Amino acid sequence: MSAQILDGIVFSAEIKEDVKRRVAAMKEQGVIPGLAVILVGDDPASELYVRNKGKGCEETGMLSRTIRMNAAATQEELEAEIDRLNRDPAIHGILVQLPLPGHLDEAAALAKILPEKDVDGFHLINAGHLMTGTEGVTPCTPKGALYMIRSTGEDLSGKEAVVIGRSNIVGKPMAMLLLQQNCTVTLCHSRTKNLAEHTRRADILVAAVGKAGFVTADMVKEGAIVIDVGINRVDGKVCGDVDFEKVKEKAGWITPVPGGVGRMTIAMLLSNTADAAERTLKRE
Ligand code: NDP
Repeated sequence: MSAQILDGIVFSAEIKEDVKRRVAAMKEQGVIPGLAVILVGDDPASELYVRNKGKGCEETGMLSRTIRMNAAATQEELEAEIDRLNRDPAIHGILVQLPLPGHLDEAAALAKILPEKDVDGFHLINAGHLMTGTEGVTPCTPKGALYMIRSTGEDLSGKEAVVIGRSNIVGKPMAMLLLQQNCTVTLCHSRTKNLAEHTRRADILVAAVGKAGFVTADMVKEGAIVIDVGINRVDGKVCGDVDFEKVKEKAGWITPVPGGVGRMTIAMLLSNTADAAERTLKRE
């Protein structure tokens, strides 16, 4: 039987509707949530992401500001811009579009963002909150992936969850979120031996590798929830890490690419910005 499709277009619209409602409520109290994106250089993929973020802000009624910096900008200039946004009361969320040009120190730049304005959830303070299960900002992509997993209505407690990929922005936070759901979590990476032996046990399988068609049907357990985070370009077409056509015949649920997790990332970014603005309002 063919898997049920976890449709990122439908779920992200749901989240954006909720954000829109929350933004409208804040506007009545005189606050317009504001998201600032710093873009250094002119990488075409980053340009596209930044445009989509601006569009999302517009759809939900938020203020969107894009700060474009020259590819040759120095670390001092970048950090000065972050400082300005940290102090700006109209801005509730700050995002530094990654990757930065090679001469810039990404970790140092991210550390400069006030943790409460770090809507990407990459600041060490927020990573610590995720690790300890205390309240902080959760990275958008794994948060969106978890939303899709929970939408299946399955009881996640005690399920075998396998995440392929251990990056700080996807794999590791994904593993932590699944652990918080009481899954038994295995985190795989390029040095993992006998990868398929792990993935075949997975009731929930998350692929965040960055290799087209990496997860094949023989690696998937019958009826599993398969979440494809990968975004790859093959012959000009966007595809994920999962061999979608074959795996969908075996999985219970599956996310498509495009129209899957990618859509959720932006929706969760908007949601995290609304959260940040609500926190400010509460403090005031
Ligand atoms: P990274 O390159 O940082 O991480 C890739 C991970 O895959 C690494 O942990 C690496 O292991 C692991 N890996 C590579 N080869 C293998 C292998 N043969 N077997 C097992 N593991 C392997 O990528 P990201 O986490 O940043 O992104 C992953 C994918 O998700 C990319 O396609 C990216 O474009 C996409 N992405 C999508 C988003 C969305 O909104 N949908 C948002 C962010 C990313 P090791 O650590 O050992 O090197």
